[in-house]
Amino acid sequence: MKQNKFKRNVSDALNNPKLKVAIRRTTDRADAKRATAVKNFPGFDRTREQGQKIKDHVIEYLDYYLAEFERNAIANGSIVHWAKNAEHASQIVVDICHEQGAKKITRSKSMLGEEIGLPAALDREDFERVETDLAEHIIQLAGDPPSHIVWPALHLTREDVVDLFRENHQNPIESTQVVDLVSSARRELRHHFLSADVGITGANFLVADTGQVCTVTNEGNAELTTTPPKVHIVTAGIEKLVPSIAHAMPLLRLLVRSATGADITQYTTFHNGPKRGTDLDGPEHCHIVLVDNGRTNMLKDDMKEMLRCIRCGACMNHCVVYKHIGGHAYGSVYPGPMGAVITPNIDGLNNAFEPVSACTLNGKCQEVCPVNIPLPTLIRAWRKKAWEKKVDTIRNRFLVACFSQLAQRPRLFQFTTNMAILMMKPFSRRGWIRWMPFAGSWTTNRDLLAPQGQSFIQQYQKNRERHEA
Ligand code: SF4
Repeated sequence: MKQNKFKRNVSDALNNPKLKVAIRRTTDRADAKRATAVKNFPGFDRTREQGQKIKDHVIEYLDYYLAEFERNAIANGSIVHWAKNAEHASQIVVDICHEQGAKKITRSKSMLGEEIGLPAALDREDFERVETDLAEHIIQLAGDPPSHIVWPALHLTREDVVDLFRENHQNPIESTQVVDLVSSARRELRHHFLSADVGITGANFLVADTGQVCTVTNEGNAELTTTPPKVHIVTAGIEKLVPSIAHAMPLLRLLVRSATGADITQYTTFHNGPKRGTDLDGPEHCHIVLVDNGRTNMLKDDMKEMLRCIRCGACMNHCVVYKHIGGHAYGSVYPGPMGAVITPNIDGLNNAFEPVSACTLNGKCQEVCPVNIPLPTLIRAWRKKAWEKKVDTIRNRFLVACFSQLAQRPRLFQFTTNMAILMMKPFSRRGWIRWMPFAGSWTTNRDLLAPQGQSFIQQYQKNRERHEA
């Protein structure tokens, strides 16, 4: 059962010191860079409000904008497909690749592609799949799934990458410098770009009034994935729409600052479908697969605010849970706070409840979200649903029921708290508890802070008496 797996994954992650180093290196740097980028952009808050309004408007009129996008994409010469779920979407892509007699397929990073299981579906059909994003190239060599939506190889250190490139690149380099590693990957990938039959990308935005597909990368690999092959396939979630290019601009400003802490992304491209008669380059055919996979359920399930998500990853960089366990422990494509809200829609609440219950609800994720998604509120909504549907274990439900009774009886609450503090005292050493009965789930992987001084209620009463005296 997935729930037990989550606990095992968490335990493995907490006992992996190398993983801890890898996560801290990247997320701490990302936090700092984002903070600087936001500080240096005086219009950030205004743009955030604008971004939220644009996404809310599109979600409200999704049917209208989807129809408009389809009409204009077809007018550009693209073929538009509609996919109900992950299997359907993957099958559409596989069928197109077979129809085109494709052997080699290049892919630019797309979390939607991961969500619909596209890499595995292409591998099952024996296509030669080449991941072209640098981090995706690394994890393809390692045989790992992505552990972050922006930095898929975040769980690996530079030393791991050096080893992987030495083992797998045709002309491995001896250097451990980042610039040399990047050159080595570029050399390795270049001939694949030029010999691929099909290039597959995701979409950061779909522009309704022009039928364009916008991709954003820092490596230019999306352009090299879409231009040389004769077929370009786009897989995109139906929530990726914006009314026009002008509406995409504020969201692009928010995305880059929140994702990488830069002021501008190196490559932002609006793809216009297949090449026209006078164009020298470009694909001969362009297919756009619009994927639902639970998104319309989010509209009716009070989860529609989650459809604002622009996949920047800032919420996971600032999440205390993610920072300790990394992305793989979640056991799903989308980790961190946004994953805790999205995954139950995709995998079902029974299979995705543990990450929902692991959240501390400290609110940092909402604070940094560039489109102001109330992630803690949505996580609490899942918890409420889980309680109503009796998803959690009997033991946990019993504990919550006991707490609920206590919380409604202040005197009993106070008495129990005082007793608990007394009972914890014998296990306390220099302010910390390393072990005590019934606290194994906590103390196995970290020490518990021993209660200090008086409880909140005692301090509150004392202060009040002082003020009244
Ligand atoms: S929920 Fe917000 S912060 Fe998290 S990935 Fe989506 S847009 Fe970014």
